[in-house]
Amino acid sequence: MDKVFELIKRETKRQNETLQMIPSENYASADVRKAMGSIFENKYAEGYPGKRYYQGNIVVDELERLCQERVKKLFGVPHVNVQPLSGAPANLAIIKGLQESEKNIQLSQILSMGGHLSMGQSVSVTNIVMPAVHYGLTADGEINWRELEELAIKHKPKIIWAGGTAYTRIFQWKKYAEIADKVGAYFVADISHIGGLVAGGAHPSPVPYAHIVMTTTHKTLRGPRGAIIMVTKRGLQKNSDLDKLIDSAVFPGVQGGPHMETIAGVAVCLAEANTQKFKKYSAQIVKNAKILANELRIMNYELIGDGTENHMVWIDLTNKGVDGWAAAWALEYAGIIANRQTVPNERKSPYYPSGLRLGTPAITTRGMKEPQMRQIAKWIDEVISYTASEINNIDLSQEQRKTFKQVMIKDKKLLLIAQEVKDLCKKFPINV
Ligand SMILES: *Cc1c(COP(=O)(O)O)cnc(C)c1O
Repeated sequence: MDKVFELIKRETKRQNETLQMIPSENYASADVRKAMGSIFENKYAEGYPGKRYYQGNIVVDELERLCQERVKKLFGVPHVNVQPLSGAPANLAIIKGLQESEKNIQLSQILSMGGHLSMGQSVSVTNIVMPAVHYGLTADGEINWRELEELAIKHKPKIIWAGGTAYTRIFQWKKYAEIADKVGAYFVADISHIGGLVAGGAHPSPVPYAHIVMTTTHKTLRGPRGAIIMVTKRGLQKNSDLDKLIDSAVFPGVQGGPHMETIAGVAVCLAEANTQKFKKYSAQIVKNAKILANELRIMNYELIGDGTENHMVWIDLTNKGVDGWAAAWALEYAGIIANRQTVPNERKSPYYPSGLRLGTPAITTRGMKEPQMRQIAKWIDEVISYTASEINNIDLSQEQRKTFKQVMIKDKKLLLIAQEVKDLCKKFPINV
């Protein structure tokens, strides 16, 4: 057996026996993965349905059109591009498509407070294409609307972005739209994290307010790694060429040939997302996150946004005596896979931040509900309290971090919790 297949076996075991609580992760269905592993992989299809640069695309045209129709129906939009390879290239294409002059500015949520790299952050190529200014969050985890509006009036941005990788509130689409209209900006909603919640009705849709909506397809939407860019009715009213601008920005602007096997998988996930079962799933994601948040708050965890209204719990660990790095590693040794995260007004660094981010989409796909959330909250607290009592230091030196990992990976208490986690996971097997 090729080494790769041995690794697939090990990764399957890992995904099955530990709790995946990274908010952007999920388990795609066996059907989605079957479509992704299909012979569509072999086909080159540069261009769009009915206008390809290669022969042999009659079936592929039908596939891409089917995928487009499913997006239009599920989200209620007049135009969609299903070719973006992932979220970051999709955002690059949007920026390229909307850019009219080198003087254009974009306005987005700042990286250190949950913004995403691909919305013009300084280390991203999206900032070279269109320089950016950023708004932040208030201390209680809400968008800083006053700052956003002041920056919009001052800079007259071409794009106002909504969306980030860390945000625990319901997005107030109408407020973004009002500010964008006031300054003549395009309002682009990046719903990468909450795409599935919007599809399932567990979060209000930005479609009536935004000009363009982008979502990745692999997070709460539970499909293959990819992204889609939707142009809304409102977008076409603002600019009747917006659909063409986006399409030519994706291809040939940013990409070459589309990944047809991914588009096949996206089409399958869209059919799955357009069911009562998915509606229930997306509601359960939020319910689970709220219970998890509530349990943690009772145990004196400081939650950004004082809880959650979506799939994510965002914790500032400063009062617990550990940083996000130590907590995330200790949790991994105990079978709980989370990710460390900066917090608003971060005092430490992005690599060793003060916070932690937990999400419920993947464990909800496994069928876990309220009782499991309570148990998981207990484990998380056990691990973090124990880790804090072992080190009680939020500013470890490099040497201490090395020792910490060597010691904690063999720690008896963490191994015991990892076994308990594994026992729980056995009752909620993943579909492979
Ligand atoms: C995940 C994410 C992206 C990027 O998606 P990739 O597929 O990782 O490139 C962009 N924007 C937001 C808000 C995201 O959460």
